[in-house]
Amino acid sequence: MIGAPMTQPKPAAPFVFDPPSRVLLGPGPSDVPARVLSALARPTVGYLDASYTALLETLQQQLRDLFRADYAETLAVTGAGTAAMEAALYNVLEVGDTVVAGVHGYFGDRLRQVAERAGAQVHVVEAPWGEPTSPAAVKAKLASLGTAKVVCVPHGETSTGVCQPIPELAEAAHAHGALMVVDTVASLGGTEFDTAGWGVDVAYTGAQKCISAPPGLSPITFSPRAMEVVRQRKTPCASWYLDLLGNLTVWSTPHKYHHTGSINLVYAMHEALNIIAEEGLAARVDRTAHTARALWAGLEALGVPLSVEPAYRLPTLTAARVPDGVDEARVRAHLMSEYGVEIAGGLGPLAGKIWRIGLMGASCSRRNVMLLLTALEEALREQGQAVATGAGAAAASAVFGED
Ligand SMILES: *Cc1c(COP(=O)(O)O)cnc(C)c1O
Repeated sequence: MIGAPMTQPKPAAPFVFDPPSRVLLGPGPSDVPARVLSALARPTVGYLDASYTALLETLQQQLRDLFRADYAETLAVTGAGTAAMEAALYNVLEVGDTVVAGVHGYFGDRLRQVAERAGAQVHVVEAPWGEPTSPAAVKAKLASLGTAKVVCVPHGETSTGVCQPIPELAEAAHAHGALMVVDTVASLGGTEFDTAGWGVDVAYTGAQKCISAPPGLSPITFSPRAMEVVRQRKTPCASWYLDLLGNLTVWSTPHKYHHTGSINLVYAMHEALNIIAEEGLAARVDRTAHTARALWAGLEALGVPLSVEPAYRLPTLTAARVPDGVDEARVRAHLMSEYGVEIAGGLGPLAGKIWRIGLMGASCSRRNVMLLLTALEEALREQGQAVATGAGAAAASAVFGED
């Protein structure tokens, strides 16, 4: 005997991630339809495969329809919504340019930070969290500056549930020769947004909110006026990866390599946009508005006040005030553990004070609203709140029954 036989280490059991079943009613991601998920599993082809470049052209037209703009320079950048935010600002701004940023929440502030990192002199027009940016205040700021390169705001501010008056802001921007740059990550495909009709020069969104595609691909469009600014730059875009002129070589003929696109995510977004086309964009916006009204009626009936005035309330993301004496995190934990329902808490100054409930794309349904209201009622009663049985569901049901 030379020694004990060598024992092979036992291979570790392969870890298979089997995601739990969830109902995604937070600020994104939203539920992704099975059709979209199966599109992801189609075979990967090369980034210059003729079938793929033809698909890019189809997707580009679908995106123009979604933005409601026939702008030639429409594409999707490879990355999250924040990548499109950086693409928007890095491509139109050069060091020393003047920017007016409307800030009334977390994402307006992210726009401000990105503009500053692009080297711009950023002037902030602030509004309290929960209120929109005042077009009069933007006008006054622009008048005091004389001119600016860019005015930027989010359309739907996901941290507060506020929807901004974009046409008025765009008019103010144009009166002073500025481009209007708008973040529609939380709104496009869920609530009215008319890029060309409202005079928006750069608009961008993300895959995982009202489009209900998996995260990682972010549509963006540039008006002819914005393209003039891009083409007349004195310095190249500070980001190589997000450089619009470079990215456009992929999206226009003859299609060229710039960086490897997220090929399977393109399949998925194309399928998600097929679903939007089948429903019809206007019908989808109506469905979202109607479903949101039912949610709002249900929340109020449960004694959960809405944070934002009806005039500028965002249908795709509702901010609701946590009633006195209620532990907001415990309510969210109950929804998750008992029903697999995800909603979000507040950010920044609103942490602990509000819940944020998303009704985005595929997640926006009567079924989900009834489930949420029933689960929320249970969670509130568990914390000693006096809530009449079925009050929230009954109020929502009445709205659903209206037409
Ligand atoms: C979610 C969101 C973003 C950021 O998107 P990511 O995909 O997380 O980078 C930006 N703006 C708004 C308004 C959003 O709701």
